[in-house]
Amino acid sequence: MQPLSDRTAVKRSRDRGVYDADVIHSILDEALICHVGFSTANGWPIVIPTIHARVGDVLYLHGSPASQLMGTTDEVEICVTATIVDGIVAARSAFHHSMNYRSVMVFGKPRRVTDQAERDVAFEAIVNHVIPGRSDEIRGPNEKENKGTRLIAIDISEASAKVRTGPPVDEPEDMNSGIWAGIIPLRTVAGTPEPDPDLEGGLAVPPSISGYRAN
Ligand SMILES: Cc1cc2nc3c(=O)[nH]c(=O)nc-3n(C[C@H](O)[C@H](O)[C@H](O)COP(=O)(O)OP(=O)(O)OC[C@H]3O[C@@H](n4cnc5c(N)ncnc54)[C@H](O)[C@@H]3O)c2cc1C
Repeated sequence: MQPLSDRTAVKRSRDRGVYDADVIHSILDEALICHVGFSTANGWPIVIPTIHARVGDVLYLHGSPASQLMGTTDEVEICVTATIVDGIVAARSAFHHSMNYRSVMVFGKPRRVTDQAERDVAFEAIVNHVIPGRSDEIRGPNEKENKGTRLIAIDISEASAKVRTGPPVDEPEDMNSGIWAGIIPLRTVAGTPEPDPDLEGGLAVPPSISGYRAN
């Protein structure tokens, strides 16, 4: 599959560019957080780490109505980046050290979501993105919380993924240098859940928590 626009065509290490929607979606779904870059109203760049959720071809971001990110709707171009580090690549030379990764960039102008049905779906998706199945176990947003949360959406139509896998790529003259080279695989591991100290007695740990697995 080819990139959909000039700006999503991977130019450096272009063999690592992936434009398949399923791959892009799976990276967005697995990445716990994303970073959103844009130019502020004051003219300087900012990159904001935040939570996201995907529903079909749409990526949702939420926050305080007063936040700079939530003020970007309709006119400010943003770039959302999600990154998963799969391993550290230890090469024979300093230069060829690297990382194995899967990352995504999504470009566009976000729209503000005001339709309540769409907001409800997106808020559930955000909760379930972080803890799958959690939305069935908790109280949803009340009117005040709903009013106090802005939601923006960006179509995942102009996007790229970049994926590095495999061992180090060393120089031929370094191959028999007696230096160890290889991969240190990395993954996110969830610890044992710790109950809120104020938790009322007799409550069982619900399935979304007891069954939680970090990817
Ligand atoms: C965990 C991690 C560590 C990295 N470390 C380094 C590093 O130390 N030094 C370094 O130079 N690079 C590093 N990279 C690669 C880096 O993300 C860029 O791909 C690279 O710097 C080239 O940037 P560019 O703007 O010149 O790319 P170009 O190829 O010119 O970018 C063109 C288009 O390709 C797409 N694209 C580029 N990079 C990515 C990406 N990572 N994910 C999704 N789409 C992408 C975008 O749509 C972009 O607009 C790292 C990537 C990851 C995920």
